[in-house]
Amino acid sequence: MRPFEYVIARSSEQALAALAERGDGFAKGGGVDLLDRLKTGWTGAGALVHIRTVPGWDRIEVGPGGLWLGPTVTLAQLAGDVRVQSAYPALAQAAGSAANPHVRNVATVAGNLCQRPRCWYFRSAEFTCMKKGGATCFAAKGENKYHAIFGGGPSYIVHPSTLATVLVAENAELELARAGGRARTVPIGEFFTLPRVDYERENVLQPGELIVGIRVKAPAPGRKSVFVAAKERNGYDWPLGEVAVVLDMRGDVCTAARVVLGAAAPIPWRAQGAEAALSGRRVDELAARTAGVAAVEGALPLGQNEYKVPLFERLVARAVMAAAGGKA
Ligand SMILES: Cc1cc2nc3c(=O)[nH]c(=O)nc-3n(C[C@H](O)[C@H](O)[C@H](O)COP(=O)(O)OP(=O)(O)OC[C@H]3O[C@@H](n4cnc5c(N)ncnc54)[C@H](O)[C@@H]3O)c2cc1C
Repeated sequence: MRPFEYVIARSSEQALAALAERGDGFAKGGGVDLLDRLKTGWTGAGALVHIRTVPGWDRIEVGPGGLWLGPTVTLAQLAGDVRVQSAYPALAQAAGSAANPHVRNVATVAGNLCQRPRCWYFRSAEFTCMKKGGATCFAAKGENKYHAIFGGGPSYIVHPSTLATVLVAENAELELARAGGRARTVPIGEFFTLPRVDYERENVLQPGELIVGIRVKAPAPGRKSVFVAAKERNGYDWPLGEVAVVLDMRGDVCTAARVVLGAAAPIPWRAQGAEAALSGRRVDELAARTAGVAAVEGALPLGQNEYKVPLFERLVARAVMAAAGGKA
C-alpha cells in the first residue's frame, strides 16, 4: 500500500474542505471497500478523509415526513432500528442481510452506495480492464458467472450495493454537497450510471462531492415492502441476485409497484415489465408469477450466467407474494 495522509474530519465543513484541498483524496466511511482497493495498489490516494467522526452524520431520523439517514449510519444500526423495521421493512431486511456482522458493524450507508464493483477482473492487479483505463471488459467473454444480464456493455459489472436495490425501490433522494459548490438533491434513480454513458464510473458524484444525507418519503398507507436475496453462502457472501419490491396496496389490489433487481445489471435495475404487470391488479400467486416472467423479459445472459434468468423470475414472484402477505 502506498503512503497517504490521514485526515480526521471533525465537522462536515472540514470533511468537504479536506477533499477539495486534496484532489487525490477519498472519503473513508467504514473503509471496507476503500482499504481493500488501496491494498491492491491500483487505487492510489494522497489522503483519506475519515468521516465517521463528523457529528450528526451517524443519525437516523424518522418523522411524519419520512426517513433521513446520515451518511455514516452503519448497516448494523439501520438493520437494528425498530422504527426502520416497522416503516421500511425492506430497507432493514437488506441492511441486515448484506455481508456479515463484522462488516455491517463498520460499513456505512454512503460507503455502501459508493463502493466499487466486485468484478474479479476489476479487483485484480493483473488485469487492466476498461474500468481501470484498459480497452477490454474481460468478463464479456471470460469468467462471467456473477455478471450482468441487463444493461451490460461495454462493461458487464453488476452494481454491488444491496442498499441501492432497496433505496431505488423506495425512490429515495440523495443529498450531495461539496466545498464551495451548491448542495444538490439527486433522485437515486438518476445517481447510478450505465457503462454505456461512462464505463469508468458508476455514479454521477463530482470530484470532492459527498453524500451528506439520504431521504426516503414516509410510506403511503397500505404500502408493503420486501427484500429477498439468493446467495451461495448465506452467512457472508455477496448475492447472486436480490430483489426489492414496494407495493402500494388497497385491500388485495396493487395500485402502484416498484420492483428492483440487484446483482442483475451495472445499476440497480427497475423491472418495469413486472411493475406494469402488477399495477392495478389483484395480487395473487398468478399475478406474482406473471410479474416474475415479465421481470426477466429482455435479459441478455452471458456465457456462464444464464442461471440468473430463472433465479430472478423466482425471486420476484417470491418477493411479490411475501409483500402481499402470502406464501411464495
Ligand atoms: C465478505 C463480504 C461480503 C460482502 N457482501 C456484501 C453484500 O452482500 N452487499 C453489499 O452491499 N455489500 C457487501 N459487501 C461490501 C461492503 O458492504 C461494502 O464494502 C461496504 O458497505 C462499504 O461501506 P464503507 O463505509 O466501508 O465504505 P468505504 O470503504 O469507506 O468507502 C467506499 C467508497 O465510497 C466512498 N464514500 C464513502 N463515504 C462517502 C460519502 N459520504 N459520499 C461519497 N462517497 C463516499 C469512498 O471514498 C470509497 O470510494 C461485502 C463485503 C465483504 C468483505
